[in-house]
Amino acid sequence: MDEKLSLQKWIGLAQQKNISFGDFCVELQAKELEIGEDDLLQRMEAMLKVMEQSIASGLSGTKSMGGLVGGNGKLMDNYRREHTRESIVGSIMSKAIMIALAVGEANASMGRIVAAPTAGASGTLPAVLFSLSEARGIDMPVLAKALTVSGTIGMVIASRATLSGAAGGCQAECGSAGAMAAGAAVELYGGSPKQVGHAVAMTLKNMLGLVCDPVAGLVEVPCVKRNAGAVAVAMTAAEMALAGIESVIPVDEVIDAMAAVGSAMSCTLKETAQGGLAVSPTGLSWANKIFARS
Ligand code: SF4
Repeated sequence: MDEKLSLQKWIGLAQQKNISFGDFCVELQAKELEIGEDDLLQRMEAMLKVMEQSIASGLSGTKSMGGLVGGNGKLMDNYRREHTRESIVGSIMSKAIMIALAVGEANASMGRIVAAPTAGASGTLPAVLFSLSEARGIDMPVLAKALTVSGTIGMVIASRATLSGAAGGCQAECGSAGAMAAGAAVELYGGSPKQVGHAVAMTLKNMLGLVCDPVAGLVEVPCVKRNAGAVAVAMTAAEMALAGIESVIPVDEVIDAMAAVGSAMSCTLKETAQGGLAVSPTGLSWANKIFARS
């Protein structure tokens, strides 16, 4: 069996080399893909451009296939523009919520998105990346490096646990997306490799046990709003890590715990639409309506 990847090992190597985790990840991934580092970063920039298009598409007011979601990204956009009072969560988080909803809605209406790590969880990472980049005036090459950090974190989670809701519940999808976003946020704010690891660990710890219970089996409810929830957890974890707060449980062990929780989870809570919100009276009523239409 292949040896599992270790985020702790890579964080240690970055520390030994005295380089940022972003620089380490670019070196690692370019080597892995047998391409030059510039080439790798260009590919990352191409993905960022697709993310930008999916934000615009979601904000244009989409309607999903099942008709359960659409227009909430736009509502959030209007709210941000029209209300002069201070936002409850602050302008960066408020923008991130808007982006998460917009991309989730673009996905639910069959728009083009970047799976990050999956389609259902595609809103969280662009939300964190683009809200922070606007706030700090961060340019595309720096954002591309942060995206490489996210991809590297996702690789480790895939190796030690899973990124699939059908295998590990929503903790594996929105939880992993949040962890990938938290690591990128720490990188964008100049945090150390060790802080990246703590941000990932603290995000996953707060998403452990999250079930996958899509109404009518569609990636609409609760998926889209969960992306916004994952943003809040990711930003909170990144902020704590940058302040020097550490996860008592090391990051690889947190990922392993997520794998164990996913295995122990009932099949009714792993994308089968047989448990959780999917079988709530309203969830079932929507499912009946949607299936009667098709
Ligand atoms: S609830 Fe299930 S389908 Fe929806 S985002 Fe989470 S893992 Fe994906």
